Amino acid sequence: LKSTENTEKKHVNIGTIGHVDHGKTTLSSAITKYLSEKGLAKYTTYEDIDRAPEEIKRGITINASHIDYSTETRHYAHTDCPGHADYIKNMICGTSQLDGVVLVVAGTDGQMPQTREHLLLARQLGINHVVVYINKADLVDDEVLELVELEIRELLVDFGFDGNSAPIIWGSALLALKGNTSHYGEESIKRLLNALDSYIPVPTRNLSAPFLLPVESALTVPGRGTVIIGTLTQGVVNKGDAAELTGCDVLIKTIISDLQIFKKSYTQCFAGDHLGALVRNVRPETVFRGMVLSKPGAVKMHNHFKARMYLLSKGEGGRSRAIKSCYIQQLFSRTWNAVCRIDVCDSGMILPGDEGVVILTLQKKMIMMPGQQFTIRENNVTVATGIVTELLP
Ligand code: GDP
Ligand code: MG
Repeated sequence: LKSTENTEKKHVNIGTIGHVDHGKTTLSSAITKYLSEKGLAKYTTYEDIDRAPEEIKRGITINASHIDYSTETRHYAHTDCPGHADYIKNMICGTSQLDGVVLVVAGTDGQMPQTREHLLLARQLGINHVVVYINKADLVDDEVLELVELEIRELLVDFGFDGNSAPIIWGSALLALKGNTSHYGEESIKRLLNALDSYIPVPTRNLSAPFLLPVESALTVPGRGTVIIGTLTQGVVNKGDAAELTGCDVLIKTIISDLQIFKKSYTQCFAGDHLGALVRNVRPETVFRGMVLSKPGAVKMHNHFKARMYLLSKGEGGRSRAIKSCYIQQLFSRTWNAVCRIDVCDSGMILPGDEGVVILTLQKKMIMMPGQQFTIRENNVTVATGIVTELLP
């Protein structure tokens, strides 16, 4: 059984994270084995997952395996990466936002440096739901598992996750993979899948948030005025609503006097709709890509942002030399681009093929949100890609 595109099952994106050798790939394979016996997945062997295909995303080589499986209620796309660097790259540069993660911690080791680094990154990327699998339960006593669980709950709280209510499952991925049906064998996979189904929420179109429409284009309808075109990313908008058009250092107050989809007029539109909004008192030449039409006060322009940025290696088509602070280039995001200064935090330098924390300073104030991706290009060649983690004053 492959895709469940035609069924009613909800789709959720997840991935394993955790320190090297803690059992992420073994667990991923064990999940598919367990579900294959129920006809809900195709069994993918450890070797097939670990032999991750090289993917090229925006000129960046990422090694990642994508497996998919179903539970009784959901369809999961699940990502497992072979190495630490691939996790970082996949999380910063990958295209599909994870709805939740499975943190794998070996009971023999407890938390390790990559456990903490992956959690930090998950936090920065806005991932809110972590399910923990304490692995290698076949090798240690239950008292040790208990201590590891306490330590991990504390760690989750330290990183801003809900460490008190996050599900923590004890098990042995290796026993499960070998078909052992004991409590720590296949039964632990069953408990893990139940935890995923109940704890990680299905992503929804956010209808309760204030409406937001990033500008794709604008046109003039003779006799009527300016129409702003784009896809409503969140919220509900009504004909007659007050709105603000912000970005590129300007803020224009307006009223939405009509809403149209495929030339048909509507009184109300919802997140996900691609629409045209007729706006009062806005001249078309004042509307640019990069601006956002929103409920008044819903968003604020900034020109300082904190971000995690990956610098492409020479082999990936990137620079041959490192970047240091005061690096000035064009930043591209969504539908717009702008001049940007990049300052490197911590070590003060990023080498090609490496990543780090940076401060972005835009020449003009724009709307950027945590989780928004961007690329940096030199002479039309992509040299870096990243994700906004924080808005700075
Ligand atoms: P990854 O680097 O996190 O993907 O870890 P792997 O899945 O490759 O596992 C690393 C090593 O730990 C392999 O030799 C596995 O066979 C072993 N391993 C994984 N899970 C268990 C387990 O539950 N018990 C034992 N004893 N070994 C395990
Ligand atoms: Mg692995």
